[in-house]
Amino acid sequence: MAEQRRDARDVREEAQAAGARDAGDAVARAWEELVATARRTVADGLVVGTSGNVSVRVGDTVLVTPTGVPYDRLAPEDVVGVGLDGRQVLGSLLPTSELPMHLAVYRATDAVAVVHTHAAHATAVSTLVPELPLIHYMAGALGGPVRVAPYATYGTAELAENMLRALDGRSACLLQNHGTVAHGASLSQAYDRTAQLEWMSRVWLLAASVPGLTPNLLTPAQVTRAGEHLKTYGQKP
Ligand SMILES: [Zn+2]
Repeated sequence: MAEQRRDARDVREEAQAAGARDAGDAVARAWEELVATARRTVADGLVVGTSGNVSVRVGDTVLVTPTGVPYDRLAPEDVVGVGLDGRQVLGSLLPTSELPMHLAVYRATDAVAVVHTHAAHATAVSTLVPELPLIHYMAGALGGPVRVAPYATYGTAELAENMLRALDGRSACLLQNHGTVAHGASLSQAYDRTAQLEWMSRVWLLAASVPGLTPNLLTPAQVTRAGEHLKTYGQKP
């Protein structure tokens, strides 16, 4: 019997070790994807230098870009992870100063990834209007008209609160005189939503800057209808 009990415990310990290895692999894979996404924001012109940040949730750990390190210098061993309470659980580099915004999104939604940028056109729009005018139906893919969160100092709880209010029912928002925030079920989805928001901002700025003409805008109902179509876009009928 004693022999059998030891065997059972051995099996359990092996299973636990394998589980820990799998969890470690999941973190390593997620970090690699996070670094690739952060580099893409720079390559695609959404971020200049280290002015944006990216995070991804793996279980109860949030992996996030560190503060002040250029993304092309980030290596696998530079992984930075925090708990949902903000306590650092992985790595020695300091997490981004915008961490409160990322954590607020994970606490309030079922998001798996968050992308924050200072993309030029979106930031320009954030200084002009309280909501991005409905210039294109792709607003439906972000949950409706994209709101602008009132200005607050970067890295503060106040900014995180303003952002959460602007994100209510949406997967993206603008931060007044600051930039963009988008979340999604994956890093690629959060990235794509950021790129769509920057593109729509650019289209509105282009259309609104033609002298003597005013752009035609869509109605909220038209955008809602497009959003419903987009939910099934690419799926088999
Ligand atoms: Zn920022």
